[in-house]
Amino acid sequence: MTEYTPIHELKGIGEKTEKLFWKLGIRTVGDLIRYYPRAYDIYEEAVPISEAEEGRVQTVTGAIYGKVQVSGNRAMQVTSLYVKDLTGTLKVIWFRMPFLRTTLSRGGVITLRGMIVRRRDVLVMEHPEIFYPSGKYEEKRGTMQPVYPLTSGLSNNTVMKAVKQALESLPLEREPLPEHIRLKYHLAEYNYALRGIHFPEDKEVFCHARKRLVFDEFAAFIYSLRKLKEESGRSENRFRISPSGEVERFIKELPYELTEAQKRVWREIEADLKKNLSMSRLVQGDVGSGKTVIALLALLTVAYSGYQGALMAPTEVLAKQHYESITKLLEEHRIPFQTALLTGSMTAKEKREAYRRIQGGEAQIIIGTHALIQEKVAYQDLALVVTDEQHRFGVRQREIFAEKGEMPHVLVMSATPIPRTLAIILYGDLDISVIDELPSNRLPIKNCVVDTGYRPTAYRFIKNQIEEGRQCYIICPMVEESEHLEVENVTDYSAMLQEELGNKIVVGCLHGKMKQEQKDRIMEDFGEGKIDVLVSTTVIEVGINVPNATVMMVENAERFGLAQLHQLRGRVGRGKYQSYCIFMTGSKAKDTKERLDILNKSNDGFKIASEDLKQRGPGDLFGIRQSGLMNFRLGDVFQDAAVLQMASEAVSVLSKKECEWLKKLENHTGNSSVIL
Ligand code: ADP
Ligand code: MG
Repeated sequence: MTEYTPIHELKGIGEKTEKLFWKLGIRTVGDLIRYYPRAYDIYEEAVPISEAEEGRVQTVTGAIYGKVQVSGNRAMQVTSLYVKDLTGTLKVIWFRMPFLRTTLSRGGVITLRGMIVRRRDVLVMEHPEIFYPSGKYEEKRGTMQPVYPLTSGLSNNTVMKAVKQALESLPLEREPLPEHIRLKYHLAEYNYALRGIHFPEDKEVFCHARKRLVFDEFAAFIYSLRKLKEESGRSENRFRISPSGEVERFIKELPYELTEAQKRVWREIEADLKKNLSMSRLVQGDVGSGKTVIALLALLTVAYSGYQGALMAPTEVLAKQHYESITKLLEEHRIPFQTALLTGSMTAKEKREAYRRIQGGEAQIIIGTHALIQEKVAYQDLALVVTDEQHRFGVRQREIFAEKGEMPHVLVMSATPIPRTLAIILYGDLDISVIDELPSNRLPIKNCVVDTGYRPTAYRFIKNQIEEGRQCYIICPMVEESEHLEVENVTDYSAMLQEELGNKIVVGCLHGKMKQEQKDRIMEDFGEGKIDVLVSTTVIEVGINVPNATVMMVENAERFGLAQLHQLRGRVGRGKYQSYCIFMTGSKAKDTKERLDILNKSNDGFKIASEDLKQRGPGDLFGIRQSGLMNFRLGDVFQDAAVLQMASEAVSVLSKKECEWLKKLENHTGNSSVIL
């Protein structure tokens, strides 16, 4: 067996299962062993019932107390019982498992491991794993079981078995990394790391294994970035773009004055556009610092010089919002250009119409999602591409543009606060501009970190804000276990909230599983004030701008990375009203409180990210993905900043030949793309 062996040659993988694996992008044994767990089930010591924490998976041991009940309807039978230990009693429920009544009615001592949630204001353990009699738990205690990202029809167990088999049957690989590098940075041996990431005996093995693989992943990324830079340099172009008096007029007509930082960054961009070397510039600015208008100024300048410009957003919702607000601005300011929208969810007919207007040069400012750079789109004369919010261009995209004509100027907008040293590694040869100032009309957001006991007060507060004409966001707890549960959670929560707030207030609900049109409609309604409270998962995270929204409440805030919470917070405080952010946490742990307090004390994204790192220390590698930046498979730019630095140093000293093996990884990291 080799890495290239198709997975159906593994035992237990038939045609049907193989297709499911394909859906996950796994075709060969090599793909499979690089399909890393997204989390681990850690079978920890049981906790006393009175200390079971809301929002966490916990293990309790107790006596079955009273009768096992089955209720609900045929479609959804709920089995419930109580367990009791010296410290308290806990209700436990299972869905669709009525047969448990027979099994469990013997009574006795049981160990249960499951998520603790709050239902009608009491803590309940939901759908736990059962160890009965409780002695069975002993075998598992202390172990870490991998949890893989799945697709419907494929069980965790199937993936786990396949990986195990693959690792057992593959011959060991020769360590590709030179010994001196490995020793210098204390990196685990490759084969050890690969086994350790799937089946770690304990946390220490996991951390060691992970560090090595993150190193490889970063090194592969940095290597391809440098190669690209070497090959291409800055390309010349024939665009003749000159500053336009019309753009100056537009700036003067804006209802606000640009901040000094915006003016400075705009001057830098304008200077780039005049040159005949293609611009590659990153604009970093905290949420709400006003990046969109800067992008628009660049697009207008290009249009006034007779070329096309495109703005690419990471989500459909955001693309639409940009499209609508820009189209409206152009009308209001009597600017004679046409806009076009292009997103993946448009009908074939709508797309054809958009293609026609883009190709014919009828539309000068084109806004959309990734669809903007698909092969089918032909531009008449594209001179500028702006990508909003950490969207990245890959090597492939670069080629596409080259095929379409000429390398346009590229402007990348990002709200992710990363220190300059990291930015230089990650963004290669991009020039960097920073908008380090917020518009002066902003009142600082008022924050509070509270526990769930504060919820009624929070609802009252929200009600008051709505009565004053404002709007609110509530972000629902994430459900790691399944998307299905997540949906249920958001829907349940909205229904509960609607009841709580009364029917004069309109509660809307948004989650990732909704159809695109549905999402769009809800976002539009919220933007137009037809929805008062929007209950959502983190799908609203990026970029949305509804200045009338003044409250952001985050449930189970402890489960988010601080950088992400800061992004969420950035959805409010975008207009002239005082805004508020309520971080609600179910965890009483001291470190959780301390961590969230960082947010409480600061509204400065850069500071938050670095404080968070300092406080959590490198040992805390579980669960939270801090930045989500660049979608590395394992690595996280913030969390693994030190490893990023190591990889950067290492790639500088390795010879070309010593880097050859990294090429193989490029295709597997899911991140072979690099910024232009
Ligand atoms: P972000 O940098 O997060 O993308 P946006 O560009 O969406 O922020 O801007 C947020 C809001 O601030 C928008 O409503 C925009 O009109 C407004 N805005 C931008 N620049 C200024 C400014 N200089 N003064 C006042 N408001 C501004
Ligand atoms: Mg933005």
